Amino acid sequence: MMVFTNKSEIQDYILKKKEQQKSFGFVPTMGALHNGHLSLVKKALQENDICVVSIFVNPTQFDNDEDLKKYPRTLEKDIKFLETLSKFILVYAPSVQDIYQGNTKAEHFSFDGLEFEMEGEFRQGHFNGVGTIVKRLFEIVTPNNAYFGEKDFQQLAIVKKLVEKYNLPVIIKGCKIFREDSGLAYSSRNERLKPDYKKEAPFIYKTLTTAKKKFGTKSAKLVTEWVEKQFAKNKFLELEYFIIADVTTLKTVKRKSKTKTYRAFVAAYAGDIRLIDNIALN
Ligand code: AMP
Repeated sequence: MMVFTNKSEIQDYILKKKEQQKSFGFVPTMGALHNGHLSLVKKALQENDICVVSIFVNPTQFDNDEDLKKYPRTLEKDIKFLETLSKFILVYAPSVQDIYQGNTKAEHFSFDGLEFEMEGEFRQGHFNGVGTIVKRLFEIVTPNNAYFGEKDFQQLAIVKKLVEKYNLPVIIKGCKIFREDSGLAYSSRNERLKPDYKKEAPFIYKTLTTAKKKFGTKSAKLVTEWVEKQFAKNKFLELEYFIIADVTTLKTVKRKSKTKTYRAFVAAYAGDIRLIDNIALN
């Protein structure tokens, strides 16, 4: 499997393959690969000749230095993991210098308000960082299709908006959330959960599934209050937010409408590890 750390080298390689009419699927990641990432890579391999997986912990999307420092970095292991999968994978694992050339700053974007909701409210500047890295990676990799998980549903919505606004020549494919048997969504952060917290973390998805059932007959406000009460009773998990939102605007629903599609979103701390999850409601 070919591993590139330099953008001009991977660009040259991709250009040559494109001359041979090869199609490219792209899976951007921050590494510490798990089965959730794997589900995206498999889909990309099914739908394209070659899959590029980028592994880059992007500093400009972190608002917390400690979180950035502690983010797991397991490049050797990640490469071995991908090697077992297919020979049609290219890895792009650039340095911060290769991407930012000494100016590690996010550009400023407007995503028509999507950036101010949920993660945007609780992680200042996060989506400027996401917009910056995704746009640069798309320019380097020039994929036909790019794969993003619904695990980061707001990020997926923002990437679609980025593509629309800048008219980028790539198709964005959303992929279902891949979960452990316990229901816990796979995340690179799960590795850092201490055993007690790991045991309790599936509570998040369990609560989401019950909230979904309740949403069938109850108002968003009542469901939200119920969820907040469940978390208040849990000693291991501290709720940051629970929101039922319209999937197109990501704004909190005030009054349910039969014609709209809703999703419930949660962010919670298990000790010092921040976990997010979400579920389709209708
Ligand atoms: P990350 O490395 O956390 O930035 O994630 C890279 C990509 O994998 C993003 O598009 C995520 O939404 C996606 N992803 C992460 N965890 C999961 C999961 N459990 N199921 C599906 N996609 C995921």
